[in-house]
Amino acid sequence: MALSKLDNLYRQIIMDHSSHPHHKGTLPQSQHQIELNNPTCGDVIHLEVNTEDGLIKDIAFDGHGCSISTASASMMTDVILGKTIEEAKAMSDDFSEMVQGNEVANIDRLGDAAMLNGVTKFPARVKCATLAWKALDKALDNPEKGMADTGFVKH
Ligand code: ZN
Repeated sequence: MALSKLDNLYRQIIMDHSSHPHHKGTLPQSQHQIELNNPTCGDVIHLEVNTEDGLIKDIAFDGHGCSISTASASMMTDVILGKTIEEAKAMSDDFSEMVQGNEVANIDRLGDAAMLNGVTKFPARVKCATLAWKALDKALDNPEKGMADTGFVKH
């Protein structure tokens, strides 16, 4: 298995995220949502995002996928929460540069997600790692979904 070649510490953290993913589930109401799949591996992600005053206020993902795609979604949701939309999109760009083996100046701000840089050695897994970040980009580009039909009461 490809993961066995990754550094042990990184592997442990990636496995922790994939077996106990953070922010897994759905939000009571969601403004932005998207479903994306990665046909080469069979990964499916359903992502829901709420924003407020230009910040990522709530985020949750659901679906099923391999350990890399699940770990990546867990890491992405951890690190993106509370960021501005602009920063989230810049981080998504950084992540996709990183897994393609390109230099990223701001790699520290990716948090645990930076540990997935090992996938550059496994081109088949790059799409697994980037799925959650692509979903984030697309969800944020989706127009806000009306919240009235989900029982949201405006104060
Ligand atoms: Zn996968």
